[in-house]
Amino acid sequence: MKRLPHRCCYALILAILPCLGIAQPKPVAIDAGHSMAHSGAVSAYGKPEFAYNAALAATISDLLVAQGVPVIKIGHDGKMDDLKKRPQLANAAGAAFFLSIHHDSAQPHYFKPWQWQGKNLQHTEHGSGFSLFVSRKNPYLTNSLACASALGKALKQAGFYPSQHHAEKIVGENKEWADQENGVFYYDNLVVLKSTAMPAVLLEAAVIANRQDEEKLQTPQMHPSIAAEVAKGLSACNAIPTLH
Ligand SMILES: [Zn+2]
Repeated sequence: MKRLPHRCCYALILAILPCLGIAQPKPVAIDAGHSMAHSGAVSAYGKPEFAYNAALAATISDLLVAQGVPVIKIGHDGKMDDLKKRPQLANAAGAAFFLSIHHDSAQPHYFKPWQWQGKNLQHTEHGSGFSLFVSRKNPYLTNSLACASALGKALKQAGFYPSQHHAEKIVGENKEWADQENGVFYYDNLVVLKSTAMPAVLLEAAVIANRQDEEKLQTPQMHPSIAAEVAKGLSACNAIPTLH
């Protein structure tokens, strides 16, 4: 896409397009994985995964909207318990891209007990970093994989690193690499990846069952840094317009 002079100008142009009878770009669906009732993994410090997912999904959405990219927010309010409804909402909105936000864990036998503030908790050092997933059942696998690779590449260039633990040849893992260099696996039967009628990627932003990963996530700059790299990756694979 042709480069525009400045993101403020770009947002302004998007705002006046309907007045000129010109269609706006299609929205990007940002999905906050899990819900308040079914909150996913439990972090090393005892926090539910959904809290991290909702926070990062909101940060990414705000950044994209600030760049003039329309966003469909899915599951951000924590009330979406019907998994199938997530791709349905994106499909009905005609989204150009679907990104599901999660935070990762590990297999139960890798956990060890520990105590923090008088609470009995579980943590693991097995797995650290981000992982990306695409489904070979998605109708746009080539574009999904191109974007997952672009996200991984952008994250790596910013100092983040991919986790290897989903490739381990054990029950519950054993995922096939789609792009090992950039941390991308195939996960064909994930509902939000296979039922979406547009390219779709799932990002596990960090391993929250790992104390070091979670401590980094608790620093205020972490989610904005991840969001900035996600936006760069989406731009690099043309899922959103190229911006300065
Ligand atoms: Zn999850």
